[in-house]
Amino acid sequence: MVRVDLVLRILVLMVLSWGLYQPTVAAQRQDATQPDNIPRPKLDCRAVSERSAYGHFPYAEASRRDLVSVGNGEYLRSSAAASFLAMQQAAAREGIRLVALSGFRDRSTQESLFFGIAAQRGQSLNERARVSAPPGYSEHHTGYAIDIGDANAPESDVRPDFEMTAAGMWLIVRAPEYGFEMSFPRTHPCINYEPWHWRWVGDEYSQATFRTAREMMRR
Ligand SMILES: [Zn+2]
Repeated sequence: MVRVDLVLRILVLMVLSWGLYQPTVAAQRQDATQPDNIPRPKLDCRAVSERSAYGHFPYAEASRRDLVSVGNGEYLRSSAAASFLAMQQAAAREGIRLVALSGFRDRSTQESLFFGIAAQRGQSLNERARVSAPPGYSEHHTGYAIDIGDANAPESDVRPDFEMTAAGMWLIVRAPEYGFEMSFPRTHPCINYEPWHWRWVGDEYSQATFRTAREMMRR
C-alpha cells in the first residue's frame, strides 16, 4: 500500500511540474520565433515623411507593360488580374456581379483625387487622408489594389455600406481564397473603413510590396 501511495505522489508531482513547465517553454519559444515582440515605433497618423504620409505608405508605380485589363476600363498587374478575373467568374456562378471600379492609378490621377477634391470640399489634408492617399502613397499605384463594386447595387459603390451588399459579403468570405485582403479594415488606426478596397498578396512580389502595411496591422 505504501508503494501505491508513493507512485500516486510521484504522478501528482509530475503532472504539477509539467503544468508549471509548459508555459515557460511556450513563452521561450514565442520569444525566439516572433520578431513582432520587438517594440517598433507606432504609426503616426499625422506625420508626413518618406516612411509614411498620414498613415499611408509609399509605393512605386507599376510598369505599364505589366498591366492588363480587368474590364470596365480598369487595369491590374497581370498576376493580380488573373486572380481577380477568376474570382469574378466564381462569384458570377453564384449570381454575384463583382465589378472593377478602380484598379491601377498613376501619381497625377492620385494628385487630383487627393489635393483637388480636398480643395473642392474644403477638407484639411489630414481629414482628406482618412479617405484617400496622397500621390506616391496609394496602393493603387502598385497595380495590385482594386476597388470592387456590386453591379447589382451601384448605389453602394465606394461607400461603407458596400459591406452589406451581396458582393461585399461574398468578398469578405471568399476573397482570401483568391489572394485578396482588405487593406483598410475597421481596425486601421489612421484610415477609414473601406470594405471595397482590396489588395492582392498572392505572390512574393506583392507580399514584399505590402510588407510594411501588413506588419503594421499585425501589431
Ligand atoms: Zn481604393
